[in-house]
Amino acid sequence: MASSKLSKWNLKDLLKKPGDADHEITKLLDLVKKIESYQPQFTPSVSVETFKTMIQLIEQLALESECVKLYSQLWFAEDMQNQQALALKSKLETLGTDMENRLLFFSQTWKRFPEKDAERLIKALPQYAYYLRKLHQYKKYMLSNEEERIINIKDLTGSNTVVTVYEMLTSGFTFDFNGKKITQEELFHYARDPDPKKREGAYKALYAVFQEHSALLGEIYKALALDWNKEFVELRKYSSSIAVRNFGHDIQDSTVETLLNVCKKNQKLFQNYFEIKSKKYKIPFNRYHLYAPPKMSPFKMAYPDAVKLVLDAYQSFSPVFRTGAEKILHEHHIDSEVRKNKSTGAFCAGESPAITPYILLSYTGDLHSINTLAHELGHGIHHLLSSKQNVLYVSAVLPLAETASIFGELLLMDHVKKLNPKLAQELLVLELDGFYGSIGRQAGFVAFEKEAHRMVLEHASTEDLAKQYSKMLKQHFGNMEIPDCFRWEWLYINHIFTVPFYCYAYSFGNLLALSLYAQYKKHTGKERDQIVDKIIHLLSQGSNASPEQLVADIGFDITQESFWQAGFDVIKEMVEALQD
Ligand SMILES: [Zn+2]
Repeated sequence: MASSKLSKWNLKDLLKKPGDADHEITKLLDLVKKIESYQPQFTPSVSVETFKTMIQLIEQLALESECVKLYSQLWFAEDMQNQQALALKSKLETLGTDMENRLLFFSQTWKRFPEKDAERLIKALPQYAYYLRKLHQYKKYMLSNEEERIINIKDLTGSNTVVTVYEMLTSGFTFDFNGKKITQEELFHYARDPDPKKREGAYKALYAVFQEHSALLGEIYKALALDWNKEFVELRKYSSSIAVRNFGHDIQDSTVETLLNVCKKNQKLFQNYFEIKSKKYKIPFNRYHLYAPPKMSPFKMAYPDAVKLVLDAYQSFSPVFRTGAEKILHEHHIDSEVRKNKSTGAFCAGESPAITPYILLSYTGDLHSINTLAHELGHGIHHLLSSKQNVLYVSAVLPLAETASIFGELLLMDHVKKLNPKLAQELLVLELDGFYGSIGRQAGFVAFEKEAHRMVLEHASTEDLAKQYSKMLKQHFGNMEIPDCFRWEWLYINHIFTVPFYCYAYSFGNLLALSLYAQYKKHTGKERDQIVDKIIHLLSQGSNASPEQLVADIGFDITQESFWQAGFDVIKEMVEALQD
């Protein structure tokens, strides 16, 4: 099967040739102009017909812009030295911001519609109800037009600039490592090196730089946290600093609290895991060596075999999953070969009902590569399933976005266990390291942020914040030795600065997948088939309701501690399997 050869992707489905982009851009600008022409009529008494036309145009714009935007991003990702691709990507980014600004009037005006007018329009257009209602709910946190205008101007020169300064400063850092100056990305590679000296050296090099700039970075953090609290809590009257993020995710505060509590209660589970890993693979029990790779058997799998393995794993869950993965492979929407100048890492992109998603990864044949293939195909399957939704709903909200991909990893592990138990043990370490990184670690960041925001309001110094971080880290890791330099860790976590409290979405998404997987494994026969149908149904909804509602619709309750605990119980079983 040609589609299971290592290869480059086919971008022609998005755009026949780069030269066609200009024509597409002209069409997009025409659409923007058309939407703008409705602005004078867009008042609370707007007719349903006009309103509907406006939304359909916005939908059409989202649909048509996705093709050319995605083309420019993927063309650049396949060869990051390609100057033409870079130019097109930049052009489309500027165009995107420009279009967004021109159409801002829609959401800004809509949010101010009186309740009864908004409801009249929502009722007439039930297919857009969730989108419109969610947007309109911001009304309760809005200030007067004049105040909003001042905040907009002051954000531009204030907090937005502070974020840019943070990003410019930290992305320009280089680190002294073994007599060379290297980037942060290269450094993190060494944090997972088989050589313990290199792992330790990598962290020392990292924190030497962050400590050196700690006074400045700490001031930046304090300014951002203070701004966040002054604007959102004091002026807009959100109930707490984390409530701002919860509202954006459309998850109740109490549900997030429950999730974070369950994560805290299960800290010990990850502590146990790292202790077992350290003993079993003779790794020093020290934070420097948290991500030490265990000595693995030299193992390589040819790409066609990996494709078969992953497809079979998906088949074991449902033929619907397998068909989705095959579609992506058959249409050559996967760039799998290792190539110079290609973007590093892996991703799945294409959030539009009109596009078969695209996947980028660099397949090297090791376990990590196979796992990545399963993970990204999971995202692809999710995109395909939700493509029956309209474009405004097609991309899953982040808390749900990892469901299918994590599911894919778990199915792969299950499948490998049957075929090759020794290999399954090694995959287990990879998975558990990953779950710690995306669940325990992220929940730890948010726990720190909650403390830090409170402390900043009480005029804490950067040194106080570092002390607090260090204290929490010790509780987080129990008996593990934590070198003092880790007190500066929070200074390099971009999300803590740029999107406060966002990190719990990773814990949420990963645990949700694990909890659903627990339900799947718990049942057999007909009951299991029902769970499979439910999960496929969930993935087909995109984001047409709140995460809580979507999960409730298939019969599970994310407001309950027991739902989340079931996810940790899957991890517990994995830790026990490692011990055997
Ligand atoms: Zn993912």
